[in-house]
Amino acid sequence: MSPNTSGLHHVTAIAGDPQRNADFYVGTLGLRFVKKTVNHDDTGTYHFYFGDGEGTPGTNITFFPWTDRGREGRFGAGQTKTTAYGIPRDSVDYWRDRLEAAGIDVTDDSRFDDVVLRFSDPDGIELELVAADAEFDASPWTDGPVPIEHQLQGCYNVTLGVDSFGPTETILTDVLGYEFEAKADGRRRYCSATGGPGSLVDLVETDVDRGRMGVGTVHHVAFEAESEAEHERWRRAFAEAGLRPSVVIDRTYFQSIYVREPGGIRFEMATPEPGFTVDEDLEKLGSRLTLPGRLEDERDAIEAELPPFDGPALEPGEN
Ligand code: ZN
Repeated sequence: MSPNTSGLHHVTAIAGDPQRNADFYVGTLGLRFVKKTVNHDDTGTYHFYFGDGEGTPGTNITFFPWTDRGREGRFGAGQTKTTAYGIPRDSVDYWRDRLEAAGIDVTDDSRFDDVVLRFSDPDGIELELVAADAEFDASPWTDGPVPIEHQLQGCYNVTLGVDSFGPTETILTDVLGYEFEAKADGRRRYCSATGGPGSLVDLVETDVDRGRMGVGTVHHVAFEAESEAEHERWRRAFAEAGLRPSVVIDRTYFQSIYVREPGGIRFEMATPEPGFTVDEDLEKLGSRLTLPGRLEDERDAIEAELPPFDGPALEPGEN
């Protein structure tokens, strides 16, 4: 019996220009810039984290801005197609107006009785805002550009693109403890054992050949593990399902294991602890380049190598 996950912990994607990326997620979407660090596995690349006022697990989207690689990704089977955030039911008009004022094409949609706004970020990553009565306990960002009553309420769901439903569905249900909830328009929806926002995963079948990792695509989806004590149980559960989980890796803000599910999508299990205040005060989140202890000695060289970035603009710009 594997442990249960409550749902999404974060989504990590690949962006292009770091300035444009941060300006969009902060200035336009109103998420807080909660951490500026580097990709621990590639210190010439920033790792940006955006989330609610405290960077609560389940509200975070993170990016590796691949400025100088330039390789454009392509969505296909084995990739996350869309990341959705919840918004209050009364905020649809506010968000349509706000996005359009920033020069973004917005498509009105509906799904499983929810109103959905669809659009893309400046690198082509597909996003959605879903109007739903969130029970999610997001912490408002009081200094942000979006009024508190309209702020994003945390991840609502991800939509994963697969060749065929079966293999990924088996991992979701038999290992991660999700239950099939509904289907419509070629989409199958699953809900974690606990339910509530951030607990939904949708699968869609795509006949687009295997995707290509690069700018404008999602790198991995992280689910929340209750605690590090469960990671060995998670590793065993993945291994018993025929997968090859990584060892536990210290990501400073959480402890993680990684596994590629049979549909080709990279999953992570991340702990809620210790969180983003482990190396910065709450009021100062994102204000300096933070590095894991083992990289502190190389700080000068790392900073010299990173691309120019002035910190996020607090106003929407032209995207
Ligand atoms: Zn991650």
